[in-house]
Amino acid sequence: MARVLLLPGDGIGPEVTEEARQVLVRVAPDLELQEGRIGGCAIDADGTPLSEASLAKARACGLVLLGAVGGPKWDGLAPEQRPEKGLLRIRKELGLFANLRPARVLDALADASPLRREAVAGVDLIVVRELTGGIYYGEPRGRSDEDGARRALNTMVYDEDEVARIARVAFEIAKGRRKRVTNIHKANVLEVCQLWNEVVEEVARDYPEVELEHQLVDSAAMLLLRDAARFDVLLCPNLFGDILSDEAAMLTGSLGMLASASLGAPGRGLFEPVHGSAPDIAGQDKANPLGAILSVAMLLEHGLARSREAERVRQAVEQVLDQGYRTPDLVRGPQGLGVGTREMGKRVREALG
Ligand code: NAD
Repeated sequence: MARVLLLPGDGIGPEVTEEARQVLVRVAPDLELQEGRIGGCAIDADGTPLSEASLAKARACGLVLLGAVGGPKWDGLAPEQRPEKGLLRIRKELGLFANLRPARVLDALADASPLRREAVAGVDLIVVRELTGGIYYGEPRGRSDEDGARRALNTMVYDEDEVARIARVAFEIAKGRRKRVTNIHKANVLEVCQLWNEVVEEVARDYPEVELEHQLVDSAAMLLLRDAARFDVLLCPNLFGDILSDEAAMLTGSLGMLASASLGAPGRGLFEPVHGSAPDIAGQDKANPLGAILSVAMLLEHGLARSREAERVRQAVEQVLDQGYRTPDLVRGPQGLGVGTREMGKRVREALG
């Protein structure tokens, strides 16, 4: 039986994770759910942002549904002891090398985008970002100070196996979507991107049904603002994916709606809303639980290969928004049906039937 570990975390994390949990139980009643602590609540209870016990549970389950970590109570701690360290540790221990961030503009929420409705209508893309290599981890790195002249360097480095495995993730996802991968690079000036592109083309030969195009990262940044609906799957090195996934997210204009997944070997993945712990609204039944609920859809699709159930969850979310229900962070719909966290979760479960 597949097992999923719930790590609700801090702030609004427990509120949105509870609604997500109930959705998961409704669509996949056969799963075994366990619970653990991460972040500030774990610092308070266990003296560390991720205890060995929670980590052991995460390893045993393989699949983790997370809320959010952090808050003002723990802001003063030394960097090594802060709540985010728990997140970094779990990502590393589970070997999560692929980060998936979908950006989909739902018709009911198109007016929440900072861009005109016409510019974002029909946007439905996913950024696949390499997460454990590239310039954030490359050696040599560091600073020096010689005779008063300061110097710093970082290194963007990829070996072919790292590129091939993230490319495969992108092509596999594209197979189940509109069958188009846009490879993001800067090969006109970076040798590392020349190798990256070469390997991506080699992997593409195994996916003749998927169309591959290459796009310079600077022009991709422009195209996202002008014509994002043309994109299906964007395959990115770590640095470019970090930046473009935030840009793509802004097209939707609704932080509380955004889901994400980080994947490792088959059966290993962490699924979480993009937002943080939102201490300003925690405990007030105001948080939008849809990002967490859509993370459940990602868990079903990418963690458990249950695409049909994933689609049921996405459709239930869409239906509830089409009916006009909105948490306070969302632009009011035509009917202006304002609801809280719990009511929104309940409406989604009702829409699931
Ligand atoms: P945040 O995402 O928590 O909040 C930003 C703004 O968006 C706030 O006004 C908040 O009320 C609102 N918001 C966020 N999620 C919402 C939701 N689901 N429904 C309605 N409104 C929502 O970012 P922040 O304020 O910069 O950070 C707060 C804390 O969260 C910090 O401690 C930060 O370190 C942490 N954080 C954690 C994660 C994570 O766990 N992955 C990510 C980002 C920030």
